[in-house]
Amino acid sequence: HLRSNLFCASKFNRVNLLDISNLPVSELMKQHITSLRVNDESDLEAENAFFVADLGEVYRQHLRWKARLPRVEPFYAVKCNPDPVMLKLLAALGLGFDCASKSEIQTILNMGVDPSRIIYANPCKQASFIRYAAQKDVKMMTFDNVDELYKIKQYFPSAQLVLRILADDSKSLCRLGLKFGASLDSVDQLLQTAQNLELDVIGVSFHVGSGCYDEEVYADAIWRARVVFDKASCYNFNFRFLDVGGGFSHLHDGNGITFEKIANVLDVALKNYFPEDIRIIAEPGRYYAAPAYTIATQIIARRLVLRDQDDNDEGTREADVVDSEQTLAEDEQTLAGDEQTLAGDEQSFMYYINDGVYGAFNCILFDHQIVHPKVLIKDDIFYFDTIMPGEPEYSSSVWGPTCDSIDCVNKDSRLPELFPGDWLYFEEMGAYTISAASQFNGFMKSNVLYTSTENKVFEYI
Ligand code: PLP
Repeated sequence: HLRSNLFCASKFNRVNLLDISNLPVSELMKQHITSLRVNDESDLEAENAFFVADLGEVYRQHLRWKARLPRVEPFYAVKCNPDPVMLKLLAALGLGFDCASKSEIQTILNMGVDPSRIIYANPCKQASFIRYAAQKDVKMMTFDNVDELYKIKQYFPSAQLVLRILADDSKSLCRLGLKFGASLDSVDQLLQTAQNLELDVIGVSFHVGSGCYDEEVYADAIWRARVVFDKASCYNFNFRFLDVGGGFSHLHDGNGITFEKIANVLDVALKNYFPEDIRIIAEPGRYYAAPAYTIATQIIARRLVLRDQDDNDEGTREADVVDSEQTLAEDEQTLAGDEQTLAGDEQSFMYYINDGVYGAFNCILFDHQIVHPKVLIKDDIFYFDTIMPGEPEYSSSVWGPTCDSIDCVNKDSRLPELFPGDWLYFEEMGAYTISAASQFNGFMKSNVLYTSTENKVFEYI
């Protein structure tokens, strides 16, 4: 039965949703791996890495949003993770959708979502995609430059346009202002052109950047939006729509950024600058998707790296590792620091797992993430969320399965000694992972198993 829970998200239409489990994530991973072991002779895919998506976590995030930002309608950013099962749940929960392309719009419309619940939030669109939006009556779309206005005039003159302005994105992991957003200086020209072309501009959008770590930038962006709203009335536009974009952290407590911190700042800024009755939406992606997905990976190979033996092969290997680390985008830890850590150990290990930066872990390269391996199964014993008492730990690096040396998942973690056949897991892997995974070197994308730790979810899907 459990085996049937494993399916590829893209094969969603052939899946019986009743197969969604209600087990805790850890239990589902354990049962899945155990059941695979029984049958592994007959199933060559038995050892593949796999995700577990907890739809209950998606649901809880939605309740949290509604409680903290009741005035702001979430339009989920499909690009973040287009898993059809999650999309189906979000649609059933009443969310709108931020789509960036024809194919994303198609996906959402095919689920039966009304076109009025879609915003085509890509300021630079292919002409045929605008024509498609027009055919399907997907009216709301963003723009940030004059040429886009001429294009829209030609292909969809009755579209409802949202002017995307530049926000301060300097406090975000993924800055978007380099590519998109009209500066306040250019707003007059854009509004004048739109007025001349008799286009319907309904409001403003912004994006503070994905992975925002300073909530104050939202207040600044809301102020900028207010400036543009006031300008708009000079061009006879009656703005009634504000889109506060994405960037929302999914994190809870701790010293860093949390969703609650952002919600508080946003709430106050909206009350101050937009007391009037306008429609306010947001385009959260990471917030909904990140915490719901855990990936389990098998250790397929390993290499022992002996320390303090610079003149042998393994010493050379150690130097190689440090060299390739320099190419990685993790600037938090300096190499000098790493070398000190390594020098203290007698030995360290390189583990090779069956998903990597060309697959689900592309978030390390494209989304500036740092991922943390935890032991799932060692010596056939299940260790989810358990400290292994008395186990010595070693400096370890974790590598993906491809033949490319940039395929490094974590360059230095403390792990007990593990062997091929053991399993590692990584939490909070739902955002910008599956959506940008490739099949480089012929490694397939990791499949998804579904569970829900909230019974309420089963009423929606
Ligand atoms: N909206 C737009 C236009 C985006 O480009 C993105 C991400 O790049 C998002 C929303 C989602 O952002 P996040 O996942 O940070 O919420």
